[in-house]
Amino acid sequence: SPVIEVNEVTKHYWNMEEEVRALSPISFSIQSSEFVSLVGPSGCGKSTILSLVAGLLPPTSGEVTLFGKKVTYPSPRVGYMLQRDCLLDWRTVKDNINLGLELSGTLNHQTESHARHLLNELGLGHTLHQYPAQLSGGMRQRVALVRTLALQPDILLLDEPFSALDIQNKLHLEDLLVQALKGRGMTTLLVTHDLEEALALSTRILVLTGSPGRLKRTVEIPPAIRSL
Ligand code: ADP
Ligand code: ADP
Repeated sequence: SPVIEVNEVTKHYWNMEEEVRALSPISFSIQSSEFVSLVGPSGCGKSTILSLVAGLLPPTSGEVTLFGKKVTYPSPRVGYMLQRDCLLDWRTVKDNINLGLELSGTLNHQTESHARHLLNELGLGHTLHQYPAQLSGGMRQRVALVRTLALQPDILLLDEPFSALDIQNKLHLEDLLVQALKGRGMTTLLVTHDLEEALALSTRILVLTGSPGRLKRTVEIPPAIRSL
């Protein structure tokens, strides 16, 4: 059975007195270990879909299920990473990462040493006792990635995680993400404006269009085309 199932989902927001239809009925499902990208013009509902899957918003109609269970609150099996890194400036790298584990109730020697391992894997071992302000934008985003991966989520939601980075940092981080995901069997849903990035990373691309957003087409990406 699918890991993520979005079934005839709509979402309306209220903006002042006005109703904003963000999604017209949309349906798709994602199997275990797939890497699926959502692409489409600004305002077609990509971020809304991630918020619904994360359990941060309820759908207006329809249903989102994770592992066959209806989403009614944020699941501990979901890791969510945004374009802004949301690191706390008054905490060291180590304490920022540990805070995530603390909040999810899973901070222990084993998870902390796993997080340390990830930090080394992403080339940031030496920053453990530094503060975010001492790091470059690319390094901060890598720390944010470690913080999310350290939770060992079954589902990874990424909302334009690399779009604020310059091209070198972006390619480097894409590469590190692929390395970090290898063999870990996470199911990933990525929102991106960058078709090249989607082609490099995805097993499948969902192309959205319109306002309210709807699914325009689904493209399977053969392994030979993926550049990572
Ligand atoms: P992007 O286009 O990069 O996905 P947006 O700038 O559209 O991002 O939205 C960023 C954040 O602002 C999202 O969390 C979204 O829910 C919120 N947002 C977008 N449009 C509105 C709006 N009209 N009123 C209130 N919040 C909004
Ligand atoms: P995308 O991520 O594709 O840019 P969003 O999901 O951010 O699209 O937004 C879809 C539509 O919903 C847009 O018209 C946006 O302005 C609107 N929207 C998003 N969040 C809110 C919000 N919190 N309040 C009101 N309108 C919103």
